[in-house]
Amino acid sequence: INYQRATFLTSAPDIKALPADQGIEVAFAGRSNAGKSSALNTLTRQNSLARTSKTPGRTQLINTFSLDADRRLIDLPGYGFAKVPLAVKEKWQKSLAEYLQKRQSLKGLVVLMDIRHPLKDLDQDLISWAVASDLPVLVLLTKADKLASGARKKILLEVREASMAFMGDVTVHLFSSLNKFGLDEVEQVLDTWYQA
Ligand code: GDP
Repeated sequence: INYQRATFLTSAPDIKALPADQGIEVAFAGRSNAGKSSALNTLTRQNSLARTSKTPGRTQLINTFSLDADRRLIDLPGYGFAKVPLAVKEKWQKSLAEYLQKRQSLKGLVVLMDIRHPLKDLDQDLISWAVASDLPVLVLLTKADKLASGARKKILLEVREASMAFMGDVTVHLFSSLNKFGLDEVEQVLDTWYQA
């Protein structure tokens, strides 16, 4: 797949407003500041496709991008931002779970986690919901450039080990938008999802 061809499609306030449930889509999710926008920009080789460094938690929009007539990338709102009211959080978690359960065109979920803070509660919930919906999950340990090679390998092995507990199709890779570390692996996994 030529990820450079991504173009902005729509911003949806909730899952009901997403494009028609046809073709194949892959969704990106992660805590605010995990490096999701940077990863989307790196994948698509576009500096400002997904905006980076917006006020965390403010924009709860689902941004959608088209790769071609049948394939989409979905940028889910970042979660885990402390200042969001509990009611908003709960509403969002409910619709996220519903999206993972009901969306026919969704063929895979990418979960981004800062390598220095992996597998927080909400990350684990999200992976559990995806596995329960038979969705494959690609966990990206982002900002891998922040750690020395020995330290990041250790965390990679720990997270891979912990991921076995989900009893699903969960792949874990290191990633860095700064030096493109792990980009080939991401493309390989996404290519198989988009081919399905
Ligand atoms: P988002 O909230 O998940 O979309 O996160 P962003 O992509 O906006 O990134 C949050 C912060 O982390 C920004 O200051 C980025 O510059 C920084 N960042 C993102 N990816 C990387 C990376 O691979 N390496 C380093 N060192 N910093 C990164």
